[in-house]
Amino acid sequence: MEINPVKGTHDIIGDEAEMYSFYEYDCRLMAELFGYKEIRTPIIEHTPLFLRSVGESSDIVTKEMYTFDDKGGRSLTLRPELTAGVMRSIVSNKLHANADLPLKYFYCGPCFRYERPQAGRYRQFHQFGVETVGVSSYLSDVEVIILGKRILESLGIDKVKVLINSLGDEESREAYRKALKEYFAKHIDKMCGDCKRRFEINPLRILDCKVPEDQEFIAGAPKMKDYLSDAAKLYMDNVEEALRKAGIDFEVDDNLVRGLDYYTGVVFEYHMEDDDIGAIGAGGHYKNLLKEVGGPDLEGVGLSFGLERLHYVFTKYHEERPQSGPDFYLMPMNDEAVDLAFSLADILRSNGFAAEMNYEPKSFKSSFKIAERKRSKFAIIIGEDEIAKKQITVKNLKTQEQSSVNTDDMLMVLRSMLEEYIQAQNVEEAEVK
Ligand code: AMP
Repeated sequence: MEINPVKGTHDIIGDEAEMYSFYEYDCRLMAELFGYKEIRTPIIEHTPLFLRSVGESSDIVTKEMYTFDDKGGRSLTLRPELTAGVMRSIVSNKLHANADLPLKYFYCGPCFRYERPQAGRYRQFHQFGVETVGVSSYLSDVEVIILGKRILESLGIDKVKVLINSLGDEESREAYRKALKEYFAKHIDKMCGDCKRRFEINPLRILDCKVPEDQEFIAGAPKMKDYLSDAAKLYMDNVEEALRKAGIDFEVDDNLVRGLDYYTGVVFEYHMEDDDIGAIGAGGHYKNLLKEVGGPDLEGVGLSFGLERLHYVFTKYHEERPQSGPDFYLMPMNDEAVDLAFSLADILRSNGFAAEMNYEPKSFKSSFKIAERKRSKFAIIIGEDEIAKKQITVKNLKTQEQSSVNTDDMLMVLRSMLEEYIQAQNVEEAEVK
């Protein structure tokens, strides 16, 4: 019986996996420039962590979590996002106690949400993100928004729209919540079931509803900006001003509320200007999250990118990176040559060359076909003649030039051939650009 992959999950294989490593590497480099250190937290956490952080009115908690009882009867959940785990880890390890604040961590790893799979939406996906904890200056929000933009720029992803909004402070949100309740009370009986539930628990979440029939009611709802306290307004003004100074284009989007309950204050998302894949990355400020999970009263700001969305955007807008292949493909022509090729491959790899080989003798024609399919730079042919003369025949698979090399000088000669090959490739790429 064939066992299929679990719905909403996907295998990432070979060249594609290499591209994911490239995004991770790029994000990590940029985060390190901004002073973040890596944190790796478990994929499973106690369920109450997410109830308290992501929030009981969020879609994630109400319908998307992979929650199960372990054999000891504990309720565990596969993390739907990483921020909560990072906060838990700060508390568990008392990271705030012995370090200069703010704490700055980046993370990368799989997340799980029981969502309806569609383009750019999976049940297992990967996030790269950062958290800054222990600073209340608006500059920390601005810095994180800039970091996100720089990550996208370094991947060559431009045409990006940065959307920001303020969810206000407690005072503003209380006034806004009251206004929304009053407004939606007149319409809620005509709205979807989810909105009815949100109306009871957290009317702000209604603004995130995607049901087409509900949009006319949402469009007429009061706007957060009209309920911001003076302090919240000043904070948002400062953020906008600092973003302008940093040359970051942005739009203020009144309906941006984000799907996680822990956000307070400034929230933001990165979208493509001309594609509706959804947010590539998103984040915001959280005032009470660390306290909610048992830590000290320190506020923070975070950002996370979905690697699947980065991949979608990167491959859609840019030529794929040149796909890698081995430096040398060894083609033994008889059984004795197979043994020799095996030893040579080992020597090549120990000296830092990527080498692959045929494990059985094959014809010239099929060996060359394999070497080309594998995108090898060179083929190394070893037959009867070569063994007798203690030589190998090396063929550049781009120029088709062929030469004999004594096995004694092999490393030195192959190294210089490879250098020449790479130089020629660089010149070619520069000319294309
Ligand atoms: P969130 O944790 O909901 O703020 O999402 C942060 C980012 O994670 C989004 O901007 C997406 O890039 C990505 N993301 C969230 N949910 C999914 C999903 N189901 N599949 C793929 N990527 C996702």
